Amino acid sequence: MQRMNSIWVDQFGREKRKLRISVTDRCNFKCQYCMPEHPEWMNKKHLLDFESLYQFCELMVQGGIEHIRLTGGEPLMRQGIVHFIQQLQQLKSQGLKRVAMTSNAHYLKKYAQALKNAGLDDINISLDSLDATQFQQMTKSSLAPVLAGVEQALDVGLKVKINTVLMKGINDSQILPLIEWAQQKQIMLRFIEYMPLDGDAKWHRHEVVTEQDILNVVAEKYRIDAIPQNHEPARYYHLDSNYVIGIISTISHSFCGACDRIRLTANGELYNCLFAIHGLSLKDEISTWRHKPTIQATAELTQKIQQYIWHKAAGFHEIQAKQQSRKITMHMLGG
Ligand code: SAM
Ligand code: SF4
Repeated sequence: MQRMNSIWVDQFGREKRKLRISVTDRCNFKCQYCMPEHPEWMNKKHLLDFESLYQFCELMVQGGIEHIRLTGGEPLMRQGIVHFIQQLQQLKSQGLKRVAMTSNAHYLKKYAQALKNAGLDDINISLDSLDATQFQQMTKSSLAPVLAGVEQALDVGLKVKINTVLMKGINDSQILPLIEWAQQKQIMLRFIEYMPLDGDAKWHRHEVVTEQDILNVVAEKYRIDAIPQNHEPARYYHLDSNYVIGIISTISHSFCGACDRIRLTANGELYNCLFAIHGLSLKDEISTWRHKPTIQATAELTQKIQQYIWHKAAGFHEIQAKQQSRKITMHMLGG
């Protein structure tokens, strides 16, 4: 079946197909590359409620969004998340293809079966080290519940991918151990270059473990064959022809030219780019429109969203060059 054009398109012709929703900025972890030392959580009464969020998702799917990923903060900390995933399944008859989640997996042992039953299509789990002490240092939380969460997710048949953010001198020793572990469990593993989105803005380029750094380490043990890149931000590599890893290298090889994503924060701000300086606050509009979704109100909201998306910048490097600072960071935007 031929897919329709997305009405969510930017000035460079990049159609938006993927919507990431941060359902909460709260998190039980304090990953050093993400959370500020003293986080100021959004007031819960400022969160977009699930009913409004659902209506918004319906509008976005009708316009061409095909994938919705729920993230955070930690999405499993938002009450009602399982029910919301179940509700989103209704949009699959309108063009939605996938409902996914990104989680730190701390609570996953408890939720895995319910998520599977609710129709979650896949889950990305963040795991930065298999060394319990190192994991504790990086996240200020324990490794054991995360590993138990991974096991449970696999047991109930959820499709699992592992995401690992590498920081130089902190956990780059984990490249080979994580590959061996993930290969043995037959789980896809993707390394992510550390991006300047940490809460306290301490990021420095010399802390980034680049794609090339990773490949140099991997080459000590495996024969590497690059796989041609498709529409994903990750670049994939065959290792000894029997395992595949991915690398998301926003810093050394930005993939902005084909970006098909937009993001919504838990308080209803739309971001046309992970690095956008300004979002578009939609909470009040969505709440009002939801109660009276007249043709005119729907058209006005659609146009407002389209205009904002249209002005998406060319890419990460262009935004970085402006060197403007902003208050929003990864635990609010959701990665
Ligand atoms: N709490 C969930 C988790 O950790 O999976 C979901 C939210 S978290 C913000 C989403 C993703 O962003 C995670 O995979 C995390 O590793 C990644 N992330 C956070 N800060 C980052 C940074 N500064 N650079 C690169 N990736 C980052
Ligand atoms: Fe929490 Fe995820 Fe950020 Fe870690 S990366 S602090 S788990 S939101």
